[in-house]
Amino acid sequence: MCAKDCSEPDNQSEAFFAALVARHSSDGVIISDPDRKALWVNAAFTAQTGYVLDDICGKEPGSVLQGPETDPDAARMISLACAQRREVRLDVLNYTRDGKPFWGDLKVTPVYDANGLHTHFISTMRDISERKALEQQNEEMRHAEALRQSERQLLALTSEWLYSAKSFDELLMVVRRAMHTLIPEADGALYIYGAQRSTLELVASWGTIPEFPDHILPDDCWALRRGRAYAFGLKPIQFPCDHVHHKDTPYFCLPIIAHGETIGLMHIVFDGFEEGGLMRHMRAEVLNNRWDISLICAEQISLAVANVRLRHELHERSVRDALTGLWNRRWFTERAAREMVTAEREGAPLSLIAVDVDHFKQFNDRFGHDAGDLVLREVAALMQDLGQNGVYPCRLGGEEFTLLCVGLPVAGAVDLAEELRSRVAALELVSNGASLEDVRISCGVAAYPQDGNNLDHLMKRADTALYAAKEGGRNRTIAAADLSAG
Ligand code: GH3
Ligand code: MG
Ligand code: MG
Repeated sequence: MCAKDCSEPDNQSEAFFAALVARHSSDGVIISDPDRKALWVNAAFTAQTGYVLDDICGKEPGSVLQGPETDPDAARMISLACAQRREVRLDVLNYTRDGKPFWGDLKVTPVYDANGLHTHFISTMRDISERKALEQQNEEMRHAEALRQSERQLLALTSEWLYSAKSFDELLMVVRRAMHTLIPEADGALYIYGAQRSTLELVASWGTIPEFPDHILPDDCWALRRGRAYAFGLKPIQFPCDHVHHKDTPYFCLPIIAHGETIGLMHIVFDGFEEGGLMRHMRAEVLNNRWDISLICAEQISLAVANVRLRHELHERSVRDALTGLWNRRWFTERAAREMVTAEREGAPLSLIAVDVDHFKQFNDRFGHDAGDLVLREVAALMQDLGQNGVYPCRLGGEEFTLLCVGLPVAGAVDLAEELRSRVAALELVSNGASLEDVRISCGVAAYPQDGNNLDHLMKRADTALYAAKEGGRNRTIAAADLSAG
């Protein structure tokens, strides 16, 4: 039997006023017996929870009000305080009769009679859901701000690293690392246009998808076709690119643009959103955030690629001969000196082949400077075509060439010179309609250290051999060693 009418003082006593307060308080009030079984609840309690006294009477209130998300520690603290007959106050997540969660600021106080006997617990509960929601919102905002802050820092750091990359390989290393850190839930790949611009080659990938195609066609990508970044998986009507394997996985395609020219593509795939995946419910939010980051990254990578290319170009210009594309004298002098030190240390062979075009002046004189230039370019191209490991074709100036042959003893160098000589002799060149006949070269070979133990000496010996080849009738190869012998 519930004590609905347990206190109905009919006078103007303190008890009467107290009852009035309990009944009309806007805080929910529960009065329980020493065993924590509910005896009475006020109207505010029913308004808060939807429970009337009959629902809760004789039951421990927590068993009715608490639910799946209630912190078990809070429940334990209440039980412990009641067992020790201590007052307890804490925020606890309760549930209404309809199963709706709400936050209560709960205070449970043991009360005693005049003899000091524990007679009741009085629980008062204020609904603080609004305050909690605000607190949570604040917390989320702080969290989001902290996240943005760390993203900004990471982006700044990335841009610094990207910008200090000296070579393309270094740049790719930074891209892999940075992209994986900035967008950890995505895999990605970087494609760069091949020399022909008909395909884009895979140059870097990160994450767990191993099967990025190693090249893609520009026409297979919406971003490249439309000339702007493309996000798949954010809009209701969309079409996947042909280069993409998993047609329902969200992804981004971002053109990489250097000096106004599209030079590549960054492809970012989100494979963490599959059905039932952890992040499924946050998909749109995460993707939107990642889209912004990806755009910034693509821009920074674009600048970095342009920067590396410029560095490379400047370096190339300083070490390449403009007419033929061969290494220039500056490169040759430095490299040859270095290779001689290595050859000395390792006891490895090294040779020089000095090459000079026979009667070159006559091509200029008879057919013009352009014809002379053509001869130089064609001879240089044949040198490059030799394609032997450790053989570096250089143009030291005018029509004087040198092949630096690392790891090649004199006999091998003579063979190589003869090979080049016969290929040059087979050239059939036409300049401005005139056929340039009899393009020939003479070669002089000197080997380190037999013929000279420093670069100057070695070059002089190769030149002497070359001069002997000219003297001997041109279109031939002579080794310095043979001169000494002779
Ligand atoms: P030899 O068989 O003795 O080597 O005779 P040659 O005519 O090849 O020798 P020479 O060294 O007298 O002539 C070299 C000429 O090459 C002189 C110079 O005008 C020309 N020359 C130097 N550099 C260039 C160049 O970049 N382009 C062209 N077209 N001619 C050049
Ligand atoms: Mg010459
Ligand atoms: Mg000459």
